[in-house]
Amino acid sequence: MSDKHLVVISVDALVFEDLEYAKTLPNFARILKNGSIVERVRTIWPSVTHPVHASIITGQPSGVTTIINNTPFEPGNPSPVWFNMMHQMPCETIFHAAHRAGLTSAVCCWPVTEGGNDVVDYLVPELFGLGAPGSDPMEVLKERGVSECVMDIMKETFEVYEPTTRHPVYDELEIYSAANIIRKYKPNLMFCHPGYVDGERHRTGLFTDAVENSLRHTDKCLGMMLDALEDAGIADKTDFIVCSDHGQMNIVRSVCINVFLAEAGFIKTDENGGLVSWDAMMHSSGMSGYVYLSRPDDEKLKGEVGGLLRKMVDDGIYGLDRVYTREEAKEKYGVDGDFSFVLSADNYTSLHDDWRRPIVRSFDPTDYRYGRATHGHSPEKGPQPTLLAMGPSIEPGVVIPEGHILDHAATFAKILGIDFPQAQGTAAAFVK
Ligand SMILES: [Zn+2]
Repeated sequence: MSDKHLVVISVDALVFEDLEYAKTLPNFARILKNGSIVERVRTIWPSVTHPVHASIITGQPSGVTTIINNTPFEPGNPSPVWFNMMHQMPCETIFHAAHRAGLTSAVCCWPVTEGGNDVVDYLVPELFGLGAPGSDPMEVLKERGVSECVMDIMKETFEVYEPTTRHPVYDELEIYSAANIIRKYKPNLMFCHPGYVDGERHRTGLFTDAVENSLRHTDKCLGMMLDALEDAGIADKTDFIVCSDHGQMNIVRSVCINVFLAEAGFIKTDENGGLVSWDAMMHSSGMSGYVYLSRPDDEKLKGEVGGLLRKMVDDGIYGLDRVYTREEAKEKYGVDGDFSFVLSADNYTSLHDDWRRPIVRSFDPTDYRYGRATHGHSPEKGPQPTLLAMGPSIEPGVVIPEGHILDHAATFAKILGIDFPQAQGTAAAFVK
């Protein structure tokens, strides 16, 4: 059995600029002082949570993982089920590679891991539905496929924390459970994903007092994990990575692109505005969106819709700064799917799914895409995610100014000393 241990904590929406404040906090400071850093990490398209986390564990862009948005395109469905099933991806994850090498893995609330029980020994996927009115938390765990062997740990967690997906309690119950899984099972891999920083950015803006408060909370979570490694007696054998999936950008408005498609006759509604049929429709991923055609091979339709979208970009008032064809987006960003166009919003607008007026909307705290800050923007824009690493496999004191999120899987594999040839990136230079 390998004596290598790797903990990966993806702090959702953490950016390099946060470290100025985070370095005043004890656990961030300890990692920064003793470890190495990739300061700015270019993410994938789209810069939203589930696609990026899928890419982090596979080393593949969204066009390969097929996780091209948080939710599938289901016109007229206001709350589709999020992409979360590991085996929806037609490629392997770092957990497959670890399993093959005889290592044990644990996951606590890492996106797109549900159903991965064949390769993850101690699996707690994202717990959608936890705390829903009238639901039994232990039943929710069963529905999500939480590993039988960690049910006792989760039961004890719910004696301490209210079962909910609301932040910051969700982060706390996640980290508390992850720490206890480490104490009990000492897995070789532990991947978890606190989301309070992301939530506070959406709610209050990019850099705010509330975001600083969420960083203090996250620092405590890091401390809980570091303490658990000490308790388990594996602290000196564990490499510890803090990374992130995307940044965010402040927005001032959301624009309903589908209203223009409707007025051009591509979306038909009844007298109450209900959706009747569509020939072209946009699906938002926050500051970007995919435009689907009912007949993707219809060149006339494609030409008309493409012409309208390009005119909207040229006019400069609709919140769009770029339209890519499917082929252009695949070539430039590695994103692919059955959409026909990809829209990039300007630097202060998110794209809204609604096909009904009003065209311009204010903030909506119930949907992350329409918060005071949001993401889904082109990966080169805005503050960038970061990666911190410390441990026995990490050369300390190395500063790498720029990296790519598709390199993370190769970095994990090199740290663990396992083969993961599918990961297309290059391991960070500070891995010994
Ligand atoms: Zn995220």
